[in-house]
Amino acid sequence: MNKRILVVDSVPTERIKLRVLLRAAQYDVDSVETIDALKDITLSKLDGIVLDTSSGEPDQTIRRLRKHVGSAAVPILCRDGDAGPVRRIAALAAGAVDVVPMRAPEALLLARLRVMLRDADTVQELERRRLAAKAFGFGEASSRFAVPQSFLSVDLSAVDENLPAIPHVPYLTEFRVSSLGLLSDDGMEQKSEAIMLRVSTQKAEELDVVLPEIRMRKHLKHLPVVVEYPPEHHKIAIRALNQGATEIVEQGALGEELSYRLCRMIEQHRVEEGLRHAEEEGRRLATIDPLTGLYNRRYADVYLANVSEDAPSKMRSLAALMIDIDHFKKVNDQHGHGEGDRVIQEVAARIRDSFRAMDLVARYGGEEFLVIVPDIGEQELLGAANRMLSAIADEPITLTNKTELNVTVSVGAAFAASHSSSRSGYQYGTGSPADTRQILERADHALYKSKAAGRNCVTVNPPVAFAA
Ligand code: GH3
Ligand code: MG
Ligand code: MG
Repeated sequence: MNKRILVVDSVPTERIKLRVLLRAAQYDVDSVETIDALKDITLSKLDGIVLDTSSGEPDQTIRRLRKHVGSAAVPILCRDGDAGPVRRIAALAAGAVDVVPMRAPEALLLARLRVMLRDADTVQELERRRLAAKAFGFGEASSRFAVPQSFLSVDLSAVDENLPAIPHVPYLTEFRVSSLGLLSDDGMEQKSEAIMLRVSTQKAEELDVVLPEIRMRKHLKHLPVVVEYPPEHHKIAIRALNQGATEIVEQGALGEELSYRLCRMIEQHRVEEGLRHAEEEGRRLATIDPLTGLYNRRYADVYLANVSEDAPSKMRSLAALMIDIDHFKKVNDQHGHGEGDRVIQEVAARIRDSFRAMDLVARYGGEEFLVIVPDIGEQELLGAANRMLSAIADEPITLTNKTELNVTVSVGAAFAASHSSSRSGYQYGTGSPADTRQILERADHALYKSKAAGRNCVTVNPPVAFAA
């Protein structure tokens, strides 16, 4: 669906020009001559407003408009005949997203509008996610600091260029770094929350390198970036927006304006980070077993389904081990449920330490664990399983009352391998859910045999050929 833009402009030719321009860019457009004219029309839901602030004070114009349009959520982009530093600050402080000079090329207006609408979409999406996270009980996203702290500034201009000095930015600490320093992994030890890039006419093409590089760096990619560009060089501003800058500002802006923009970007960034954190926490809660810190059964099932699908093309073999603590009921009966929990925790830790980081270790049931081991030979697997048995059986577990308890586990393993690498005849299935179930059933069956054979031992399920 097209976005709907309201144009407020007292000059008829400007209104016509904007209507044509915006419609060609696939926007639906309403236009009025004055703010007062809004009284007489019914507006459909608006996505953005392009407001001429040339006559009168920008802040008063914006406030009057807000009274009519109501919702503070509709973003406003101002066009101003002067658009000098002082008028810009007034407009920003009154809640405008940005001010584009009346004389700027149409392409800049379109680029700025596009970024404004995209950001408004992001805010809306974040709000939806915040509500969803809250409904799931993941808690509210919270800002890490009450006050914005610091930003990184990078000067990409040539040494011989005569640019206005970079103004002091009040309320924020500025760390000046080179572009190399910024992009290096240790360029962020100060935990800055925004980046300011100063570009010049001679070095404008560096934006095409630095902005995409920022978006690829793990430690930088989420940070907002404001690009400070030489006055009147609107092509550079368009380039910056197209390459992913969050905001643009002409060189010569007062420190207050830079501070205002940076603080606003940082606030927004914190809300996003808070949500990202809440989502990660939600994911963790959904996939991790709280008692042992191992993956839970739900995660293990999904993982196994995915890995068995990949296995025939990517792996030599795939093994599943079912592990069950022996006579665990007695531990509960003799020492209580709390001590039983401690035993589960300790056994879980010893199992995890017996396998490689690439092997998936999950708590599959009360005192039952599942380990999924990709790409391993049968002998290696038996070696690992036996080392795990020893790690558990050889060292008693100390209970809270200092009792030393001897604990053992029994293990059932099932194996699958590709035709070519399988000397013993085990084969992968086709990766279907039935195959996934089958490898677990076979491991379970082997576990049963270990129990019957007296416990504290490993049984590998005899080869069963899957249908190819
Ligand atoms: P076997 O050697 O045949 O496996 O004997 P077992 O006693 O371990 O087997 P059984 O399945 O009869 O008992 C498992 C016990 O594990 C029963 C249940 O109360 C206990 N259990 C399951 N989950 C937990 C848990 O989270 N904490 C504690 N403390 N006990 C649990
Ligand atoms: Mg059991
Ligand atoms: Mg048991």
